[in-house]
Amino acid sequence: MTDTLFAKIIRREIPADIVYEDEAVLAFRDINPQAPVHVLFVPKTPIATLNDLTDADSLSVGKLVLAATRYAKAQGLAENGYRCVMNCNRDGGQTVFHLHLHLLGGRVMQWPPG
Ligand code: 5GP
Repeated sequence: MTDTLFAKIIRREIPADIVYEDEAVLAFRDINPQAPVHVLFVPKTPIATLNDLTDADSLSVGKLVLAATRYAKAQGLAENGYRCVMNCNRDGGQTVFHLHLHLLGGRVMQWPPG
C-alpha cells in the first residue's frame, strides 16, 4: 500500500484537528466539513479500501465503528441521529486510500445521497 495523507496524519507528519485516539483508531475533523459535525475515523492499520478487508480486520473495524458511535453519543447526536459513511473506490467517491469512516451529524441528512 502506498503512503497516504491519513498515514501522515497518524504519524503526526501533517497537522489535523484530532478529537479522539486509542490504540487502534485516530479521529480528526474533516478539512472540508459537510455537516456541523464531520469527523473522520481511521484505523491505525493501513487498509486501502473496504475491498481489502479480511477476517483479520474484524476487531479493528469493530473498534472503528464503536469509536464513532461513542463519539456521536458524547456529542449529543444519538437522539436526533447521525450518519456514518464509508466510501469505496471511484464510484463510491473515495479520494483517500486509507480506510475511513465519515461521521456526519448536527443537521438533517438527505436520502438518496448524491
Ligand atoms: P473520501 O472522499 O475518501 O471518502 O474522504 C476523504 C475526506 O478527507 C474528504 O471528506 C476530505 O475533505 C478529507 N480530507 C482531504 N484532505 C484532508 C486533510 O488534509 N485533512 C483533513 N482533516 N481532511 C482531509
